[in-house]
Amino acid sequence: MKQTHIRRTEITIETRSLTIIRSRNVKSGCVRCQNCQTLTAAFTPAHAVLIFRVDAAEIKRLFQINQIHFADDSALCGKSLADYFKQEIRYVED
Ligand SMILES: [Zn+2]
Repeated sequence: MKQTHIRRTEITIETRSLTIIRSRNVKSGCVRCQNCQTLTAAFTPAHAVLIFRVDAAEIKRLFQINQIHFADDSALCGKSLADYFKQEIRYVED
């Protein structure tokens, strides 16, 4: 495990997993999904586009066919995205 001294929320993209490093004193990034009740990272559609390397239209399409869903009013459920894109999300406290 690589040591890090980063003091902000950072997302590292690997081939098969997303590692989300959260600063202990920054309460952000995780929500209880309204749909699947999972405590998960949440991504705005704009972030999802960058993280999962698809375009905005694809995110919208996946939402419309219920492959992914929103965790709250503004953010997509990280678990639904990870399941669809076959990524594992690992959470690391810095
Ligand atoms: Zn969900």
